[in-house]
Amino acid sequence: MSPETNGTNLSPVVCPRCGEIMRSAAVKTAIWRDDRLFVVEDIPAQVCDSCLEQFYDEETTDALRRLTEESFSSLKPKKEVLVPIFSLEGRIVRRTSSSKEAYSDY
Ligand SMILES: [Zn+2]
Repeated sequence: MSPETNGTNLSPVVCPRCGEIMRSAAVKTAIWRDDRLFVVEDIPAQVCDSCLEQFYDEETTDALRRLTEESFSSLKPKKEVLVPIFSLEGRIVRRTSSSKEAYSDY
């Protein structure tokens, strides 16, 4: 460690999944606890534009875990949003394995 290297982002972070260079970004995540949905934003993350993977450092993961485990019930949320909920019930088209040929005669 030389004294000139006190800046951040000295070496680019490489995506452990695809090997591309990642960029720093503030991201959001959605967390289900029991039957409630919580959204956490302003999460500092490394984002891979190539495979869309997101990674948090250890301190961030820790803060996120503490927020999830302890603070959701006691903290006042920064804001609330209305979330549209859709159902896949009745929308899944099952193909039986024997009807493969029905697929190919277009
Ligand atoms: Zn990647």
